[in-house]
Amino acid sequence: MTRPARVVINLSALRHNLARVHELAPACKIMAIVKADGYGHGLTRVAHALAAADAFGVACLEEARELRGAGIKQPIILLEGPYSANELTKIVNLGLDIVIHDVTQVEMLERAVLPRAVVVWLKVDTGMHRLGFLPEAITRIWQRLNDCKAVADKIYLMTHLAVANERDNPMNHAQIECFHKVCANLATETSIANSASILAFPDTHADWVRPGLMLYGVSPLCDSSGVDEGLKPVMTLKSELIAVKNLRANDPVGYGATWRCPEDMPVGIVAAGYGDGYPRHAPSGTPVLVNGERVALIGRASMDMLIVDLRKQPRAKVGDPVVLWGEGLPVEELARYADTIPYELLCAVHKRLQFIEYGKG
Ligand SMILES: *Cc1c(COP(=O)(O)O)cnc(C)c1O
Repeated sequence: MTRPARVVINLSALRHNLARVHELAPACKIMAIVKADGYGHGLTRVAHALAAADAFGVACLEEARELRGAGIKQPIILLEGPYSANELTKIVNLGLDIVIHDVTQVEMLERAVLPRAVVVWLKVDTGMHRLGFLPEAITRIWQRLNDCKAVADKIYLMTHLAVANERDNPMNHAQIECFHKVCANLATETSIANSASILAFPDTHADWVRPGLMLYGVSPLCDSSGVDEGLKPVMTLKSELIAVKNLRANDPVGYGATWRCPEDMPVGIVAAGYGDGYPRHAPSGTPVLVNGERVALIGRASMDMLIVDLRKQPRAKVGDPVVLWGEGLPVEELARYADTIPYELLCAVHKRLQFIEYGKG
């Protein structure tokens, strides 16, 4: 593809960020979360770069199969467990672990006849009210799973925090305390922490940590960026200027003519747009790097193009490099401008783009 928009993936940054997790939680095993195509970075590419992880977490059987097909030997955990009973045999044959969060899944296991027992992570709903059993149900479910031939002897316990990205929210401590109470009488390995929790709450590290976003070099916390947390961005969305023009005062730019030049000025057209995963809701004023310097997006993002204000880069010319997010321009910052979260931007980067990786080591 000759269109200059492309995604550059820094594999050594992935390894660095995994090492950073290890530094923050030195006693813990690391379940690297690689769902949604490795947060848009490429599932097997990410898993190979994170070969030092103790396990991988995915959302579905298809992702797990792709990892096994790529030779990944570590435990792989299906974070939402089986979606139907007919997945169980495939799960066992691929050697996967499953999260069990609903009684229908317990019933599937009780009815199943499997070639081998499956490792179960029992999910406790400590207050997020998405997946998991309420604390008062855990003893009974634990017992049923223990009695179930299809379930391996060791059952793990896990929970998920709803507001870990807000350091001062008291709900965090309520959830953590609730989980500790549930686990008090059940001797096993436990897991609480996603990236935000790893960074903000060392007392949640438990036996296993489950980093996702931070592995990709991005901070989930409201009040910090990845760089502040010692992380390095893995994905950089790059392109080039494909046109430069001098407009006159009051000339409008782009669809809807939403922005007008305040004076005679140079503008640049960048080959990237919402068809690549750039957020259409990014407003005028959103930063874009041209030749490494911040300039402002002006007018609406189109499918394949963006327009930028080149008054700070008056010598910029066709072919000059542009960064939409990544190295030099944190995706966290772009997300704030576009009123979204970095997770959504990373996951939505379009597969039509050329992916270029470096830093294989
Ligand atoms: C996605 C996910 C994570 C990782 O969350 P981040 O905020 O990306 O670190 C951890 N645990 C579970 C159960 C998840 O689904």
